[in-house]
Amino acid sequence: MIVKTIKSYKRIEAIDITNTISKEAENIGNGIMLIYVPHTTAAITINEAYDPSVMDDLMEKVSSLVPYSKNYRHLEGNSDAHIKSSLIGNSVQLIVENGNLILGRWQGIFFLEFDGPRDRKIFIKVLR
Ligand code: ZN
Repeated sequence: MIVKTIKSYKRIEAIDITNTISKEAENIGNGIMLIYVPHTTAAITINEAYDPSVMDDLMEKVSSLVPYSKNYRHLEGNSDAHIKSSLIGNSVQLIVENGNLILGRWQGIFFLEFDGPRDRKIFIKVLR
């Protein structure tokens, strides 16, 4: 298993990790990369990386659907982040062929921070 560290700088932030994952794919050859986020207040998704407004819109919409509030039961005060994490999900699977990450033309891979800033991790497992 490969462990990569990610640093977030804001409470809510979409971080493009496509280049980091592409570099790992070079050493893999052929297989499936399972990318797993081992956190309860962060998530991972694949979406458009060409126009950054897409991820801005996504993060704003998720925040309006699940607003930050102290009026949840969970006493830590970050229930919105837990809910956002479960809505988006904590893993993606990617095809790797001849060391190349196979993505659609406009796609990128994003780590979604919902309770930063923090030091975070992603786990990568190659399935062959
Ligand atoms: Zn919590």
